Amino acid sequence: MNCVICSSDILPQSNGWDKGHNPSPIKEDGRCCEECNSTVVIPTRLSKFMSIEEARELVKENNIE
Ligand SMILES: [Zn+2]
Repeated sequence: MNCVICSSDILPQSNGWDKGHNPSPIKEDGRCCEECNSTVVIPTRLSKFMSIEEARELVKENNIE
């Protein structure tokens, strides 16, 4: 399975989950990888409430899933 955002392979996480992440609101179909989830998808969701830079920092610091 490939990430719909960066099209790289979605690798299993340490907990065995290998189905990737929900890419909404970037894409409405498919799944995205862990990397895109934490650098693009989550910050984009949070950017409704704060700047994208602040959101990225927050995700990095708190490991938001
Ligand atoms: Zn990706």
